[in-house]
Amino acid sequence: MDGKWGIVVRVVGLAVLVVAASIGMTYLWNPKPETVPPPKPLVLEPGMTVETFGRTNDLANPVLKELFGLSEAKDLSRPLDSFHLSNDEIIRRAQKAMALAAEESSKNWIKILVKFLLWLAFLAYVFRLTRLGRITPGVRKGLYFTAAVVFGVVLGSDPSAMGTVKDAIHLFAVQQVIFPPRLIALSVFLLTVLLANKYICAWGCQAGVLQDLVFRLGRNHKDDRGRIPQYKPPFWLTNTIRVVFLAVFIAAAVLWGVDIIEPVDPFKIYKPLALSAAGMGFIGVLAAASLFVYRPWCHFFCPFGLVGWLVEKVSVFKVKVDYGACVACEACARACPSTVMGAILKQDRTIPDCFSCATCMNVCPTKSITFSAGKRVKPPEGHFEKKRKNEVKTEG
Ligand code: SF4
Ligand code: SF4
Repeated sequence: MDGKWGIVVRVVGLAVLVVAASIGMTYLWNPKPETVPPPKPLVLEPGMTVETFGRTNDLANPVLKELFGLSEAKDLSRPLDSFHLSNDEIIRRAQKAMALAAEESSKNWIKILVKFLLWLAFLAYVFRLTRLGRITPGVRKGLYFTAAVVFGVVLGSDPSAMGTVKDAIHLFAVQQVIFPPRLIALSVFLLTVLLANKYICAWGCQAGVLQDLVFRLGRNHKDDRGRIPQYKPPFWLTNTIRVVFLAVFIAAAVLWGVDIIEPVDPFKIYKPLALSAAGMGFIGVLAAASLFVYRPWCHFFCPFGLVGWLVEKVSVFKVKVDYGACVACEACARACPSTVMGAILKQDRTIPDCFSCATCMNVCPTKSITFSAGKRVKPPEGHFEKKRKNEVKTEG
């Protein structure tokens, strides 16, 4: 089946496959909740020892050790008064220690290790294909599908690049705690962005690759044009909304302890049993929107997308144009799923997010676009105007 209904059938089929397989995979991994329970009120009464305080509040000995700086087992029988801490200070420290312990115990560390190793191997493989110019439209779709299956369906929604930013901000706003493993994960993600333009978003992010795959399902076989109308919203609009959304997210976390992304988190498509009706509705809208607009979540909402966009300004490997070979036909800008190639080509002051998809490289008739290291250069004076004049003369 081809045409518009064929596209609809493929997208719906993909969604059903992802949701059904993700439900099945829930039982593969020892099903840890992967969500941190809300903090519970602590009981602190006069005359309590460290041990009774711990037993009453369900605090494990390592947590108590950290909390009171204990050095020996016999310190557990010390009265709380002997630490010369106010009740407020004890509660504050205990809540932080409990928050860190809850984060720690909610993680499936084997799965996380496997996922990061596979991420690094997969990104290295795609990087090599990109450098060799082997990302054809078919290969691109196959890679997106593979990434969605491996990093989403099989290995789940957590961890994710977006989660590292979102959860770090929320935990700090609510408990004033930093969970060190999350900072390490964020650093690894940002390192991939720094080495190769937005690479974790481009090829590894569970939500990103799925949106990208849906978008490509609505395009022709050369992947240079939509078979349905596809729109490129201006970057000033998408980025303004993304900045405002992050500001609202931070304000809600600080003022009310609320995580406004949680109910509509698109990564939960890989955790369908945890989705509310609102979440399902939002993901449905997002999937439909992904057919018409390139990666709507990434461009309009994602906190990591925003951070990654800032870091990609200094990425080592990125899309570059050789103006000596470029014939200024602008086929790359037309084929690019967003406005970014137009901005790269003309070296505008603001370059939007580039998702290193290599579509521009595919369509360039003179192979002037490379994914290489170094700074982008400006086009020679009058480069595009000369071309336009030649076209007018030819037409005349
Ligand atoms: S910007 Fe898109 S690809 Fe990047 S982390 Fe966010 S959802 Fe994933
Ligand atoms: S400029 Fe556009 S087409 Fe080229 S790699 Fe970036 S997002 Fe893809």
